[in-house]
Amino acid sequence: MIFRQLIEPLSSTYTYLLGCEETKQAVLIDPVLPAWERDLGVLRGLGLALAYTIETHIHADHITAAQRLKRETGSRIAVPALEGLGCADVHIEDRRPLTVGAIVLEPQHTPGHTPAHMAYVVNDRVFSGDALLIDGCGRTDFQGGSARALYESVHERLFTLPDDFLVYPGHDYQDRRVSSIAQERRRNPRLGGGRTLEEFLAIMRELRLPPPKFIDYAVPGNTVCGECPPELPNALQHYCDEMRASRQG
Ligand code: FE
Repeated sequence: MIFRQLIEPLSSTYTYLLGCEETKQAVLIDPVLPAWERDLGVLRGLGLALAYTIETHIHADHITAAQRLKRETGSRIAVPALEGLGCADVHIEDRRPLTVGAIVLEPQHTPGHTPAHMAYVVNDRVFSGDALLIDGCGRTDFQGGSARALYESVHERLFTLPDDFLVYPGHDYQDRRVSSIAQERRRNPRLGGGRTLEEFLAIMRELRLPPPKFIDYAVPGNTVCGECPPELPNALQHYCDEMRASRQG
C-alpha cells in the first residue's frame, strides 16, 4: 500500500493518502480545503487516481476538500451514514468494509467527539480521527459530543485492537505523527493508564476550552461536503484560501 501522511498547518489536520499499488486507485481520509491542490499534486506524483474522499466526522475546525476534489477528479464522497448528508455518494456504516483495489478500510463507529464519528482500520493501522489523539482526544463539548460515549468508544473499540497497531490521529498540535494502541492504552493521560470513566468525565469537564473560532462556518460548510460559506468574514478567509506554505509530510 502506498501511504502518505499530509499535514494542513492552519488546523493542524492530518490527511491520509492510501493508494493501491495494483489498481493505482487512492483514497484521502479527511482532506482539507486549502490543501486540495497540494493533495492532487501528491496523487499525481505517485501516479494515483482519487477514488474516494472519506470523512471521519463533520469537522468544526476546517472545511473538507471533498466537494472540490470531486469536481476536479470525479472522486466519490464517503461520509458516516449517521450524518445523513444528501451530498454524500457513499454512506459509511459501522464495520461495513470499504474496498478500493487491494485496500480494505473497516469503519469503527466511535461516537463521543461527534455522534456519527468513524475511525478506520486498514491492516495494522487505525486512522482514529478525533476519537483518539496522541496523548489526548477530541473535544466532547459541542456538536452533540459526549465524554461518556467517547470513553466507551476508545475503550471498547480502539483499545481492544492489537497492541502493535499504529494510531494515526486526525490532528496533532505538537508535530507528533504516530502512536500505537499499546502506547495510548498505557500512557494516554486522559484515557489510558487505567483511568476510570469518572476520572475521564472530570478531566473533560475541567477543560473549559473556548469555542473553535471557525465552527460557525465550518459545520455548515461541511454539511454540504465542503463549500465555503459566502458570508465568511475577512479574518477567516484563509480557511478557504489556497494553502501557501506547503509543509508536506
Ligand atoms: Fe473534529
